[in-house]
Amino acid sequence: MAETKQVDVLIAGQGASAFSAALYSARYQMNTLIAAEQFGGETAIGGDIENYPGFPSIDGYDLMLKMKEQVDLLEVPIHNSNIEAVEKSGEGFVTTLQDGTKIESLSVILAIGRERRKLNLPNEESLMGKGVSYCSTCDAPLYRNKKVVVVGGGSAAVEGAILLGKYAMEVWLVYRKGEFTRPEPVLVTQLNQSENVHQVMETEITELLENDFGLVGAKFSKPFQGSDQVDIDGIFIEIGADPRNEIAKTLGVEINSETDEIHVNREMKTNVSGLYAAGDLTDGSGNLKQTITAAAQGAIAALSAYEHASEIKANQAEASMALGGD
Ligand SMILES: Cc1cc2nc3c(=O)[nH]c(=O)nc-3n(C[C@H](O)[C@H](O)[C@H](O)COP(=O)(O)OP(=O)(O)OC[C@H]3O[C@@H](n4cnc5c(N)ncnc54)[C@H](O)[C@@H]3O)c2cc1C
Repeated sequence: MAETKQVDVLIAGQGASAFSAALYSARYQMNTLIAAEQFGGETAIGGDIENYPGFPSIDGYDLMLKMKEQVDLLEVPIHNSNIEAVEKSGEGFVTTLQDGTKIESLSVILAIGRERRKLNLPNEESLMGKGVSYCSTCDAPLYRNKKVVVVGGGSAAVEGAILLGKYAMEVWLVYRKGEFTRPEPVLVTQLNQSENVHQVMETEITELLENDFGLVGAKFSKPFQGSDQVDIDGIFIEIGADPRNEIAKTLGVEINSETDEIHVNREMKTNVSGLYAAGDLTDGSGNLKQTITAAAQGAIAALSAYEHASEIKANQAEASMALGGD
């Protein structure tokens, strides 16, 4: 039979928002449990982090290890399974994990981040790590003197192309629209100054070409400089990310209709009592999706969860006193 655990607060995720929530939650002396299969979140694969206060430069993986170590010191258990479903149960929740474990909790903090968007080409998944990457910042140094394509037209794609221009021999930045309107103008200026970055506009990638060892080329939807295909060693797909909001949706959580993110107020409360969200999957920090904003939201969510749990416990104590006839 599946195991059932009871805690005050269940925190889903092992990224910056989750560890920060756990740190605060444990310090509020709540019985806290973290549930997530994978350690570190996006920060851990982000390469050098140079904008987290206190660390002029630190590898993202090391920063996340430090966050985890701090939570370990407070003896917050980590259950290495993702959450599959959350249901309201009385004043609290019952969460089912992918390994079948059930967690009963007074509050749930969703800190499960975003899912990188894919091109959905047939061999895209099998070529991951063999030439296909979703993280220019992480993998750019691996492509020194090589040829690469970057796909996308937002800040991440343009920044990625500029960065790769510093390592790779040649870069093709492929964008399906005719103009870069979303990145900051300063980035577009830098892009225009990157001599080895070709801007391939109003074009899509239609095919990834491979040999026995991995990616060797990409096909364009229309010719660029006389050819509809390029020989490349890597392709960086930087076309955005979708907030992981499915579980929240099934609970009737309000979703921001413009961004698809979980809508939270200043206290990281959703419209469902006892359910909080923190980090990149919320609309809580506008366009600034960073490790520091995720960590800050985690801390705020923990305070809200604490206040919620305290209220429930106080009500329960009062009810049991009344039953006792005092
Ligand atoms: C390449 C790259 C470089 C970056 N560089 C910087 C930088 O220099 N500085 C900076 O401040 N920020 C940077 N960022 C942004 C930063 O990494 C994110 O803002 C931050 O990781 C968000 O934290 P989070 O906790 O919201 O989500 P995440 O870090 O994405 O963590 C989400 C967690 O939830 C888990 N999860 C997913 N589904 C489930 C589920 N069903 N159940 C339980 N757990 C689940 C995941 O495994 C993960 O542990 C970078 C991001 C990328 C991709």
